Amino acid sequence: MFEKTYKIVHQSTFSKEDLVHLISLEGEERDFFLKETSNKYIQNLGNKVYFRGLVEFSNYCTKDCLYCGIRKSNTSSERYDIDDAEILKAAKFAYDNHYGSIVLQSGERDDKRFIDRITELLKKIKEVTDGKLGITISLGEQTEDTYQKWFDAGAHRYLLRIESSNKSLYQKIHPNDSHHDFETRINCLNLLQKTGYQTGTGVMIGLPFQTYEDLADDLLFFKDMNIDMVGMGPFIEHTETPLYQYKDQLWSLQRRFEVAINMIAALRLLLPNINIAAATALQAIDPMGREKALKFGANVIMPNITPTIHRKDYTLYQNKPCTDEGADDCSNCLSIRVEMADRKIGYDEWGDSKHFFKRTAIEQ
Ligand code: SAH
Repeated sequence: MFEKTYKIVHQSTFSKEDLVHLISLEGEERDFFLKETSNKYIQNLGNKVYFRGLVEFSNYCTKDCLYCGIRKSNTSSERYDIDDAEILKAAKFAYDNHYGSIVLQSGERDDKRFIDRITELLKKIKEVTDGKLGITISLGEQTEDTYQKWFDAGAHRYLLRIESSNKSLYQKIHPNDSHHDFETRINCLNLLQKTGYQTGTGVMIGLPFQTYEDLADDLLFFKDMNIDMVGMGPFIEHTETPLYQYKDQLWSLQRRFEVAINMIAALRLLLPNINIAAATALQAIDPMGREKALKFGANVIMPNITPTIHRKDYTLYQNKPCTDEGADDCSNCLSIRVEMADRKIGYDEWGDSKHFFKRTAIEQ
């Protein structure tokens, strides 16, 4: 049964057609694909999962992405900016709770005040955590100089999603201006790698106008770009954004979820040694969403440690989970969830992308 799927899963190279086949699977054949991939993945990669404490420290944004709830033109979004002392407290919490690393994420700004603030903040985080806490940042498109400054200050991983690797789709989901330019985004990924960051990217799954072929190309894009880490999750429409007008043309939420899990499993087959995050958006659709991602290929999970009073305002999409829990609740809840997925947490470890070391060893 399911001979074609069995054959593809056990190959070592994958064509675009193979990937389209896998990510579009449904029903029993999909269950078979996921189970087969999960078995292969555990054998090859072991069952460690790494925590990254996520601090969404500000939702002020200069960009106007047509899908995003914190886009500049959404005047109904209540804006906040958590002060440095509170961010440091969150970093200390992550360190004391053996998370190994944190992720700092915010809306996008590139003014000097912001850049200098982040530089100082990164240094302070290193100071209060004995230089031991790993730091990932996700602060959008910046100049090479800024990327270098933040790298020198202590950040060593950077996430910048390409959102879609299909240029014409990218242009449909962003304003058509120089501030939202596809080539600039690609160039930023190159600059991040050049600077020495472990570089992460990702896409949204189930966007209006998106096809299975686009998604297969996204996976091949990660491979061609020699990416070290990927975070990708379902697109979830937000009422206060322009893309909401296409809500009736979208796949059902359930289907977007299924395809997102298929994408994670297919990516694990394609790139066995990268880090793959179980995106929070999965949990907005299925309460067990992130655990399912861990079971079928993801190896990184990001407990939200943003101070609770601000969580409800970082609404990139609606129905975001865990906006009313504190960091303590999140950590307890997640360790149980990881165990339920038959995985072990790599406490106190940075959990760096194995792919990164391979890539840089070759480049040297
Ligand atoms: N400013 C940072 C990160 C903030 S947004 C940057 O530019 O990288 C983080 C991610 O949330 C985005 O990259 C996007 O992929 C995702 N996102 C935004 N709106 C979304 C939506 N409506 N549904 C699902 N994911 C969304």
